[in-house]
Amino acid sequence: QAAVCVRLPPAPNSIGCAMSERSIPVSTLGVPRIGRRRELKLALESHWSGKSSAETLLQTARELRAENWKEQRDRGVAIIPSNDFSLYDQVLDTSVMVGAVPADYGWQGGPVPLEVYFAMARGSQGSRDAGCEHPGHPGHSGGHKAQEMTKWFDTNYHYMVPAFSDDQVFALSSTKPLDEFLEAKALGIHTRPVLLGPITFLKLGKSSDAGYDPLALLPRLLPVYEELLRKLKEAGADWVQIDEPALVTDLIPNEQDAYRLAYRKLAAAAPDLRIMLATYFGGLGGNLETALSLPVAGLHLDLVRAPEQLDAVLAAARPDLVLSLGVINGRNIWRADLASLADRLGPVVKARGAAMVQLAPSCSLLHIPIDLELETTLDADLRSWLAFALQKMDELHVLSDVLSGNGADVAGALKAAADAVAARHASPKVSDPLVQGRMARINDEMKTRGATFVERQKLQATRLGLPAFPTTTIGSFPQTPEVRKARAAHARGELSFVDYDTFLKKETEATIRWQEDVGLDVLVHGEFERNDMVQYFGEQLSGFAFTQHAWVQSYGSRYVRPPVIYGDVSRPTPMTVSWWQYAQSLTDRPVKGMLTGPVTILNWSFVRDDIPRSETCRQIALAIRDEVRDLEAAGARIIQIDEAALREGLPLRHADWKHYLDWAVESFRISASGVSDETQIHTHMCYSEFNDIIDAIAAMDADVISIETSRSRMELLDAFKTFKYPNEIGPGVYDIHSPRVPEIGEMTALLSLARQRLAGEQIWVNPDCGLKTRKWDEVRPALVNMVAAARTMRTEN
Ligand code: GLN
Ligand code: ZN
Repeated sequence: QAAVCVRLPPAPNSIGCAMSERSIPVSTLGVPRIGRRRELKLALESHWSGKSSAETLLQTARELRAENWKEQRDRGVAIIPSNDFSLYDQVLDTSVMVGAVPADYGWQGGPVPLEVYFAMARGSQGSRDAGCEHPGHPGHSGGHKAQEMTKWFDTNYHYMVPAFSDDQVFALSSTKPLDEFLEAKALGIHTRPVLLGPITFLKLGKSSDAGYDPLALLPRLLPVYEELLRKLKEAGADWVQIDEPALVTDLIPNEQDAYRLAYRKLAAAAPDLRIMLATYFGGLGGNLETALSLPVAGLHLDLVRAPEQLDAVLAAARPDLVLSLGVINGRNIWRADLASLADRLGPVVKARGAAMVQLAPSCSLLHIPIDLELETTLDADLRSWLAFALQKMDELHVLSDVLSGNGADVAGALKAAADAVAARHASPKVSDPLVQGRMARINDEMKTRGATFVERQKLQATRLGLPAFPTTTIGSFPQTPEVRKARAAHARGELSFVDYDTFLKKETEATIRWQEDVGLDVLVHGEFERNDMVQYFGEQLSGFAFTQHAWVQSYGSRYVRPPVIYGDVSRPTPMTVSWWQYAQSLTDRPVKGMLTGPVTILNWSFVRDDIPRSETCRQIALAIRDEVRDLEAAGARIIQIDEAALREGLPLRHADWKHYLDWAVESFRISASGVSDETQIHTHMCYSEFNDIIDAIAAMDADVISIETSRSRMELLDAFKTFKYPNEIGPGVYDIHSPRVPEIGEMTALLSLARQRLAGEQIWVNPDCGLKTRKWDEVRPALVNMVAAARTMRTEN
């Protein structure tokens, strides 16, 4: 496969090296930075814990970059990115690059030191405090707070939110893009540096100024970019990739104008430095005209998410605009149907001319795992259907050969791809007639509880006999080092099933006893047997597979290994019933059955691309429904179905929200509506805005929803109040992202704020989220106080 790199004379498309004069160049837009064996994580964590020097860390980073560059070159990638690497996050890199370092970090100008960088990333006293799977929260570790973190568009990657001040000034404060360009150059590799575009960057940020207008900062920011572009040009760059994913979101006319202004300036800053403007995660839609009007040399299009935009672009693009065709899915792990792609792209290449197109993944390869070769235990068929980042480079290479008229050289590869696609399609492993039969029989009755909420509420109140302001927790109790150790030992085969089971039962029993002692009203079993709220279920469902090494970055040094949903989903046997039964056998108080909902399982997995996501979601919903009914049959009076990721799944464009929410809510209802009216269904959502989705939340019709409200001081309840949301709500009163133990008075104050917005009979008392990342020493006094706060409310209201 290894290709020899030949330097071409500068042609519109040339960037250093390409396979041959005639071949269409392949680019990657960016590659995973974590290392095949998670080398970056190890190096970072060793450095943070004081075990290794900054120099050792930086050396590892250099080695990872060099390996990435060489790997791409060897796989025939002609347009190799630089500055796609990051020690933590590319948005944080950009904040630092432009000097957007908030005053509290004590930075005085000049190059931003590594300690300041990490203080912004993680807080200055070490570990970022993520309380649940939902990492979108600032750390609370004393010292300097970490910057806020949130999801990068609709991915599960989290970026550090740029923080601007009213009087923000910008100055070029890091030479990283330049350094990494030169570093590659010294290795004989000519790269196309990647920058996060100024408008997307500003739009991702926040300001202390309430009326923050990102665009107002643009004139101050642009000179920094202009200076950098000139420096890159002087260093020998001929192209630069500027990422503007904001162009696939809804923009107002002002913002579209800002694009024109900004890119006029950037193009003029270094006239011979060609700009490849990269858009991804969707189609340009209403921004198409804007994008095509910009004085850039190239435009990258996401043709996986928005294949339909190609025709419009072809019809309207200047003939001298290089089009980067993002045709291989950078967000998923399935092998592509190369032959049909070649068929589709052939006429495009012909019409535009081979010199005017590039082939690329739909977006940077950051969001998929690195190398399928590492997976040695996957089912052989499934494995033959997959492509990770390195395999996607090979796919692009084959496609390039075919489209460049060298199809004969890759006939074997092309056939292998076609065979894999056909085999997957025909495989009995992906389709289950029983599941399809059930899917066809889904009817309205299955999506609807028998009685109205008001009627159910009466029945449930009689059955459960709970006091006013009932107390409960969200599910997990501390996953102590002992719990983790036992799980790891069991996974390695060093702790027998029986011993592990005995250990887990002891933990569960102690937790039930403790909850009874402090006087919680509705108990949980503690979730000690669960490794992760999605994986635990995926491992027991048909149609799911798990990898050994397929890590993708979630944030900083936190990586996840999402399950792969490859086939029709069903639930062969109960997943949680025996744990629930055991826990309930220990107490008379109600113990909640605890499940992860279909939308969350879907959103945190790699999903099959041969049927719509909505269909896979409904299949998972049927599986969860089975579990809900089995829990009820076993005697569970309360069942909680967590939907932590429901809001995160919202599409980027507003116009697509309704469709998503319709099937997401429908799936939840399928999972929840198979029980009798006396059975109480709870759901839980982590930090979410509810204003714009409150009707969907209401349509879920959960008897009780618990949400994260402590830090917003109950402001999130305004949406429920305005909507006159009728069902019961547990607004979190204990911020589980912080080790701090809240006082009774703080929690009664929060409950009083809740009381101003809701009827007393609607309110439950619970923490913001699960307690798995906390220590028992924090959890015990906090919950004792929480129960006391609830009792105070009962006597005073
Ligand atoms: N039941 C889960 C827990 O308590 C919910 C976690 C979450 O919402 N992220 O851990
Ligand atoms: Zn949560």
